Amino acid sequence: MQTPQHKIAIVTGGGSGIGLAITEKFIQSGIHTIIVGRDQQKLENAKEKLGNRCECIAFDLNDLKAIPQLVKQIVDMHGKIDILVNNAGINLKKEFTEVTDEEFQNILLTNVTAAFVLSREIVKYMIEKESGSIINISSMASQYGIPKVIAYTASKSAIEGMTRAMAVELSPKGIRVNCLAPGFIATDMSAKALNNDPERKGKVLSRTPMGKLGEPAAVADAVLFLASAASNYITGVVLPVDGGNSIGF
Ligand code: NDP
Repeated sequence: MQTPQHKIAIVTGGGSGIGLAITEKFIQSGIHTIIVGRDQQKLENAKEKLGNRCECIAFDLNDLKAIPQLVKQIVDMHGKIDILVNNAGINLKKEFTEVTDEEFQNILLTNVTAAFVLSREIVKYMIEKESGSIINISSMASQYGIPKVIAYTASKSAIEGMTRAMAVELSPKGIRVNCLAPGFIATDMSAKALNNDPERKGKVLSRTPMGKLGEPAAVADAVLFLASAASNYITGVVLPVDGGNSIGF
């Protein structure tokens, strides 16, 4: 099969929030973007908005055993995968002592294990091309301590460690691996965590020097940079896109 000239990207959770903004930015840059999420309708709404360069695949990333076949199907169709954005994620805001074993494991399954399995399968193909860029999505929860998000914090700290481990092992094979740590970005996820908790929202804003939540497009601009040749000597970094939240007083 002749490999296409244009880049092929996979954005997990590309049907909403930050993932949708990343997909929009990629498509504007001529990157054919495959979005993966569980909710078919959400994906189709995104495709309707973004057009034919957007392809959607309804798939639950918690189904780890099916991931190799998913990746093979995409490579069979497109001949390659140039960019992977491990953006899909779930949050759980709950008192430390109330979090069950199952809840803790479930957050790690989606936010860490699925990202690992998907990366591993895609890297097998990237190695053949000696080229690729992987961008993981972390959070302020791994820059400093935030109460009531124990499992989410564990998952995002793991993603940052994995980014560095992947970068050292894969960069010699032509694959760059970076991580982006969004601050508080206006999406459904942050609305759930902040909108009925004015004290928490006030705390977030008071330690964000720019004084406001970020727009998903601001994260998307930085992801596009990390995905593109403009960052071709950057690997293993965790880049905050946070209005200064991580260094705020
Ligand atoms: P959203 O809830 O809008 O997006 C999460 C996406 O992940 C959804 O599109 C969802 O799609 C997808 N997803 C969740 N579980 C699965 C699964 N098992 N299989 C496939 N897809 C799945 O939240 P955001 O856009 O805010 O979050 C995107 C990323 O950014 C997350 O990793 C989050 O942790 C991170 N982040 C967000 C911040 C914020 O302030 N908003 C701050 C810091 C980090 P579907 O429901 O269709 O499965």
